[in-house]
Amino acid sequence: MQWDSAALSDRGRMRAGNEDAFLARPDHGLFAVADGMGGHAAGEVASELAADTALQRLARAVDGGAADDELADALADGFAAAHRAICTCCTDDPRTRGMGTTLTVCVLNPAGTFRAGHIGDSRLYRMRAGLLDQLSHDHTWVQREVDAGRLTREAARRHPLSHIVSRVLSEDLPPDADLLEGSLLPGDLLLLATDGLYNMLEDGAIAELMAGGADLPARAAALVAAANRAGGADNITVVLIRILPR
Ligand code: CA
Repeated sequence: MQWDSAALSDRGRMRAGNEDAFLARPDHGLFAVADGMGGHAAGEVASELAADTALQRLARAVDGGAADDELADALADGFAAAHRAICTCCTDDPRTRGMGTTLTVCVLNPAGTFRAGHIGDSRLYRMRAGLLDQLSHDHTWVQREVDAGRLTREAARRHPLSHIVSRVLSEDLPPDADLLEGSLLPGDLLLLATDGLYNMLEDGAIAELMAGGADLPARAAALVAAANRAGGADNITVVLIRILPR
């Protein structure tokens, strides 16, 4: 199984800086997005540190020829290492105290599967045969309301409390990541995205732009441009991965 990818991060139209981060190491089948929070530019530190630390741990496992179940361990270790890195940074530099970040990481196995881990409200989607599926489950207050049947998905997207995240990587919380796995088929598309994308665009619009005929970098750019046209209220980050035909 082979893949190609494209990634893009944009400040959006309302924010002074960009606290999102992404990493793509397609040669290792490793991809991550992170959405940082914290004052004095600490959000930028948290998101980059978390994505970088987790992917380094996973890259070592991939380089070492890790079996599929070992990749699951490496994924959990990656989140633990990212958490430790954030704690160390907060201790060493008190200006970064209180910083935190979401982290969504995906590792592709050439045998035709993937494993992913996530904390927070950045998302992993898979598009297969034209249908878009959100595979990750947001760690947010509004998601809990959706699960309880008290809010619809669309109402949650526009809710004034949609930004309240119940789990993040931070000094104060354990690195309690959800781990997922799934299959990949030729033609599948994976999307890792921060909330600056999906809070601006409905699933149908995201699906249409992902499936668009343009090449992958143009599709990533089209997603970001559409989120900006819809208001660009937050930083916008997308990582698109396409499983190539055999
Ligand atoms: Ca955000």
